[in-house]
Amino acid sequence: MAKSRTQIDRRVQAFIQTCRRQGLKVTHQRMEIFRELAVSRTHPDAEAVFRAVAGRVPSISRDTVYRTLSTLEAEGLIRKVEPVFESVRYDANLDPHHHFVCTACGAIHDFYSEDLDRLPIPPSVKALGQIDSAQVQIRGVCSVCVDRKSQSRQHRAE
Ligand SMILES: [Zn+2]
Ligand SMILES: [Zn+2]
Repeated sequence: MAKSRTQIDRRVQAFIQTCRRQGLKVTHQRMEIFRELAVSRTHPDAEAVFRAVAGRVPSISRDTVYRTLSTLEAEGLIRKVEPVFESVRYDANLDPHHHFVCTACGAIHDFYSEDLDRLPIPPSVKALGQIDSAQVQIRGVCSVCVDRKSQSRQHRAE
């Protein structure tokens, strides 16, 4: 699902407002890091955020990116995605949504489903404690990877 300009702008505006409300300075670096997450369609890890932001802000250090992501996460401005692969991934989308995880390339795509938002929580889970939220994770192979695979098969056949 492509992210629209307005959706990104809405998240950036909400980010700025929340920072102000929580007394967190909206620095150029924080803004660049958040924007990178908001624009990205794949829920990047800290290393990928660093590489992308360093392309635009060469003075930024890896340490700053890692620390900023932790700060933003602690302030509730971004969310950690449950580790699916070896590294923690981050999400700028705080709306209720679910994830499609590509097991080939590791991309995590957002999708929306009101039915899944209303997913009945089994009594056995309720017995475990208080429920705050539920998110569905669907694993599969994304269409980019499916195409790549079928192309390489064609190559071999030629
Ligand atoms: Zn993929
Ligand atoms: Zn997400």
